[in-house]
Amino acid sequence: MSFAERSDAVHVRAPGKINIYLGVGARRDDGYHALATVFQAVSLYEDVYASPASDFSLTVSGDVDPSTVPLDDRNLAMRAAKLVAQAAGVTEGVALHLRKSVPVAGGMGGGSADAAAALVACDALWGTELGPHALHDLASRLGADVPFALHGGTAVGTGRGEQLTPALAPGRFDWVLVPSDEGLSTPAIYARLDEQRARVGSLADDPPLSLDVPVAVLQALRAGDPLALAPVMINDLEAAAVAERPELDHILAEGVRAGALTGIVSGSGPTIAFLCAGPEAARAVQDELLAIGREALHVHGAVPGARIMS
Ligand code: ATP
Repeated sequence: MSFAERSDAVHVRAPGKINIYLGVGARRDDGYHALATVFQAVSLYEDVYASPASDFSLTVSGDVDPSTVPLDDRNLAMRAAKLVAQAAGVTEGVALHLRKSVPVAGGMGGGSADAAAALVACDALWGTELGPHALHDLASRLGADVPFALHGGTAVGTGRGEQLTPALAPGRFDWVLVPSDEGLSTPAIYARLDEQRARVGSLADDPPLSLDVPVAVLQALRAGDPLALAPVMINDLEAAAVAERPELDHILAEGVRAGALTGIVSGSGPTIAFLCAGPEAARAVQDELLAIGREALHVHGAVPGARIMS
């Protein structure tokens, strides 16, 4: 019997994210970089099933190479489950199953979505009723992108990305995602950015003096206008991701040639998100990219954060 069919399983779904804007400041004393980012949750989901058990276990399915996903305490979903148990004094365990659709190490926060979904699923399974504030607090202890996966929608993230302010973005935005077969390590991309900035003579790449999301980005979101959004999308990690994976530059050009308004590396990459004028334009871009042998997924945003399905 699959986890989806187990009647005693709590099923929670959480979205992957893209960064519509990602400004990276200086490295802080705690090793993290200061960020000013705009997250958007998109319709590519992680499904987490939590079933009663006497101890903690984790299994994974989906379109992933199983060797890339840890099944022990290194897994963010497992850590999330244990954190809920600890915070609420629960002595039972849980059998977690992750059905993954978000590319692993793809810059789309798949592990963070699993963690957010596991928090909500365990809270429901154990009836601990922690409430939104405590769940947000546990989420930010698990990782900078976990609170956003809990809330979803479109939001400005500051600090390490965990301090969230909802952004008004009422329209629908259509994206075509091009994942890569092999992921990129987030710490390696930040290290590459620091290296690029430290290089003698690269003054242009110094961390920006002020870290704010440009007003033009927020206005375009508020207007639901992809044509206004396209020219103001920026990712400070993009050059580092391209330096690590030069092929990304070709893919960015291919998507624009196929009719996308613009393309951006999502977070630390290597997934690329192409913004399109609407659903039909996105389908055309997807078809064109598939025709030249790229994997291409048509998704839309914004969608809600972690929510109980059954
Ligand atoms: P982010 O953009 O949040 O830095 P990402 O989306 O690039 O992350 P993830 O898929 O979240 O990358 O995972 C990055 C690494 O974290 C993986 O290579 C894996 O070793 C580890 N990991 C921990 N928990 C998970 C999980 N639930 N699913 C996938 N990877 C996980």
